[in-house]
Amino acid sequence: MIKGYFYLPNSSRVQEAYVRLGDEHIAVYAEDDCVFESTLTAVNVASHLPGQASELTFADGARFVPHDVAYRWSFQQRKSALLARLESNLALILCALVATPVLLYAFLFKLVPGIAVTAVQTMPDAVVEQMGQQSMVLIERTVLSPSELSAQEQQAVFTLWHDTVSQLGLSAEKYRIDVYRSDHFGANAFALPHGQVVVTDELARRLGDHPDALRAILLHEIGHVERMHSVRLASQAAVASIAIAMLVGDMDIVAEVVLGSGSALLDLQFSQNMEWEADNYALMQLERLGYSGEDFAQALESLASLDEKQSQSWLKYLSTHPSLEERIEHARNHTAP
Ligand SMILES: [Zn+2]
Repeated sequence: MIKGYFYLPNSSRVQEAYVRLGDEHIAVYAEDDCVFESTLTAVNVASHLPGQASELTFADGARFVPHDVAYRWSFQQRKSALLARLESNLALILCALVATPVLLYAFLFKLVPGIAVTAVQTMPDAVVEQMGQQSMVLIERTVLSPSELSAQEQQAVFTLWHDTVSQLGLSAEKYRIDVYRSDHFGANAFALPHGQVVVTDELARRLGDHPDALRAILLHEIGHVERMHSVRLASQAAVASIAIAMLVGDMDIVAEVVLGSGSALLDLQFSQNMEWEADNYALMQLERLGYSGEDFAQALESLASLDEKQSQSWLKYLSTHPSLEERIEHARNHTAP
């Protein structure tokens, strides 16, 4: 005779009851009246958790919960016995504790970027164009204002840009440059996925006498476009969010991700890996144009020397990139045979 609570199906009613077990049958009694009967095969035993009563669920949804949390039913299915053993195995629990975050990490940081890279390769140009244009409209409206540089200063940037793009044999239609004043970006340059590059007044002015440094920055930005870094980041974020949405079962997140990808590009942070890829692109192209890695290193050094003159770093471009020393060394190693 096992005492406990009997819960009626589809009801919050509960009564004190006890269970009698036969070889094949189970019967539930309340105040000496038999209130329920069933064959043992039709009874579901909840998996055993330490410290929790082993609950019975009957075919019609009624439940019986023993008062004694340590009580275990003798007729429990073999599967739940195995489960109980797994659940009380400390070594396995510790394994699971370690394995879960590792698997989650592998999923989010290895599998998801992998899927994103594949997705990017099949991304139609029209989608990339649309994505870039939408971002540009948003960024222009929120954090850019018309350039205050003189026509001559602007023209110097345009000329350097057009020379570089045509020397590289890239499409002048795809690769466009614009100069804007921006308090938000400070002295900076960035590229949007469809080939639009933006240089801020401050950066153009500071590098007015250092065309090599500006060329190095422009090539680096073209590298981000050619390697589709922002498309990769955006689709990575989208795949991760959709995966998380599926895990937690909230599909509203998906709509937010798809609609919000434009604003996400505003303060995009490329991974270190992507920065090196962009630098490698710049180095490779410079070589084709007859410059060396040493020239790139010197261009970066002139950036560093400009920055040193300020008490605090005015080149926002530098704070969003790997350290200059590392990049200079990377460029020098590039020339080494
Ligand atoms: Zn970069």
